[in-house]
Amino acid sequence: MNIERELGKRSNHQCELCTSTEKLSVFEVQPPKSGGLEDYLFICETCRDQIENPDNTDPNHWRCLNDSMWSEHTPVKVMAWRMLSRLRNEGWPQDLLDMFYLEDDLLDWAKATGEGAPSENQIIHRDSNGAVIEAGDSVVLIKDLPVKGSSMVAKRGTAVRRVSLDHENAEYIEGKVDGQQIVILTKFVKKI
Ligand SMILES: [Zn+2]
Repeated sequence: MNIERELGKRSNHQCELCTSTEKLSVFEVQPPKSGGLEDYLFICETCRDQIENPDNTDPNHWRCLNDSMWSEHTPVKVMAWRMLSRLRNEGWPQDLLDMFYLEDDLLDWAKATGEGAPSENQIIHRDSNGAVIEAGDSVVLIKDLPVKGSSMVAKRGTAVRRVSLDHENAEYIEGKVDGQQIVILTKFVKKI
């Protein structure tokens, strides 16, 4: 399956969120759910940039969700829900969310990245793919990591089970490698 071609067909070569026809590319909704086309969106560079860089979010750009939230395609709905949740303090996104029905399993998926979680200041730990890491989760190292204060290197591919979270810093988690408790940067792990 050529995902880009299939998505081009599905989207009619328009951004599935804002209908722009400029600079479209394939975007994988995290965490992947079906392993197929329903994990992907075809979106423009503007949407992608704002999704990936919350600091760049321009609320007015996302007025487009007024239409795209009614899409029949689940990844479009899920991403619309996440962006509305991110922007809910603007008022109008909350009004749209109040009308927005997602089935339970889609709602779980939509919430999986922690977007729109209740507290603005809540520290959310995310792995290298942006998936939320919770205490007790298992992760795998995606590169060799020297362990501070020892000559040990934690090898890429090492699974770290039942991690704990640093509640002050979203970039740090802790877990045991070879029986030793170490601090690991979230950007170097992938949730398993
Ligand atoms: Zn767009």
